[in-house]
Amino acid sequence: MFGPLLIDQFFIYLIGMLTTSMISSSSQESVSAVSLVSPLTYMIIALSNAVASGGTVVVAQYKGKGDQEKMRRAAGQVVFASFMVALATCTLLLVVSDSMVNWMFGTADAVIREKATAYTIGFGISLIPFSLYNGVFAVLRGVGDTKTCLRLTVIINLIHLFASMLFLNVMKLDILGTTLSYNIARLIGGGVAGMQAALSACERGHDVTLFEKTDRLGGQLFFSDHMAFKNHIRDLRDYFITQLRKSSVTVLLNTEATPELVSDADFDAVIVALGGIQTVPSIPGVDCSTVRMAWDVFGHEEELGRNIVIVGGGSVGCELAIHLASKGHKPIVLEMTEWLAASSQISERMSIREQFELHGIDTRMETLCIGIEPCGVRARAKDGGEYLIEADNVIISAGTTSRSQARDAFANVAFDVINVGDCDSVGTIRTAIESGWDAGARI
Ligand SMILES: Cc1cc2nc3c(=O)[nH]c(=O)nc-3n(C[C@H](O)[C@H](O)[C@H](O)COP(=O)(O)OP(=O)(O)OC[C@H]3O[C@@H](n4cnc5c(N)ncnc54)[C@H](O)[C@@H]3O)c2cc1C
Repeated sequence: MFGPLLIDQFFIYLIGMLTTSMISSSSQESVSAVSLVSPLTYMIIALSNAVASGGTVVVAQYKGKGDQEKMRRAAGQVVFASFMVALATCTLLLVVSDSMVNWMFGTADAVIREKATAYTIGFGISLIPFSLYNGVFAVLRGVGDTKTCLRLTVIINLIHLFASMLFLNVMKLDILGTTLSYNIARLIGGGVAGMQAALSACERGHDVTLFEKTDRLGGQLFFSDHMAFKNHIRDLRDYFITQLRKSSVTVLLNTEATPELVSDADFDAVIVALGGIQTVPSIPGVDCSTVRMAWDVFGHEEELGRNIVIVGGGSVGCELAIHLASKGHKPIVLEMTEWLAASSQISERMSIREQFELHGIDTRMETLCIGIEPCGVRARAKDGGEYLIEADNVIISAGTTSRSQARDAFANVAFDVINVGDCDSVGTIRTAIESGWDAGARI
């Protein structure tokens, strides 16, 4: 951090000295004029730097406390205060420069006083763009980004140096050349700093580490590898994996994030995206050896017998039924309400209905599973009648539950802890993406 800061300050003074020495190529009067006014300009720059340094300290304090909101507000105030001080000083110099120079250096030659006045006015005007980039620099230093300051200082001062060479040595513009080069360099500097600040804000510049306890990314979207009609979701998952590969995010596979691990790593913010777990209903016989949980079936279809009962006709149960039917199994879907895939869009429900007819998938609506036996499922129909549905295997598809306990264990591991996706509230791919994006934008 100190390296860039020291080089930064050294560079500013070096280029200042070089450009001042260049004026000596103009005339003796010009050197005298600049020398007379220089102490005043140094004093004004010191005043601006004092305002900026105060701002750096305030921004750094809020950053240290992790208070993003106050840090952002302080950053705005620093740039504004820097600008207001410059505006007031510039106005004062424009109004009083002539009388001030005459009063302070009344014994000097009239030509020298005239040039000193012109230099003071030019310097005063350049304070406006200077205040803007100086304010932005103060903020960048406060957040520890001294490398960006150094990069911008090099750009601004090189522009100053080359503009001075052009205006003083080539175009022989004398005092006007010095003030012009100040203004051009500072104007461009203000623009570059502003753009850089905007870019940094856009990119947000966080160092991100992604922990994934399994050996693959995508969470529940793994199912799309198994169901041919879910190829659009497979594309979406692969898109995210490609974007991650292209980004600077550190991805740690086979690494389970624990509250202790995350706490020890001392992250500024933690986004908890643990997902959900399959709901296991308290049905007698649910632990029978013929029972499978829905997600565990994908990739293991050949281990199942031909006749299958799927308990739960939500979207997962219905899609699993279509998937198994297309592989030659004979599934029956048991659903306690009168709707299949009740929380899905109408178009998806129509498509499911169509596929059920196509594959001849049997459904038992408004029917409750009241027990599981090795030979099948005991069911209770709407009219209260109980009967046995024979099956080689029973698949439970009774929904997803947030990993709330595991999630809450992360509550105090960092200043900012944000829960997203199914671990916050069980939803869809869309809601998981929305909450993830929102969390990234809030940090
Ligand atoms: C069969 C099926 C079909 C679906 N079809 C659709 C559909 O068509 N449309 C739709 O919108 N939604 C669908 N969904 C729901 C959708 O997949 C989920 O809502 C979404 O994937 C939730 O994303 P998530 O990131 O919150 O959780 P998950 O996808 O569950 O991801 C959580 C991740 O966290 C990892 N993890 C957990 N604990 C830790 C830990 N301590 N350390 C490190 N890693 C950990 C897990 O391994 C997992 O990779 C379907 C779900 C299933 C199961």
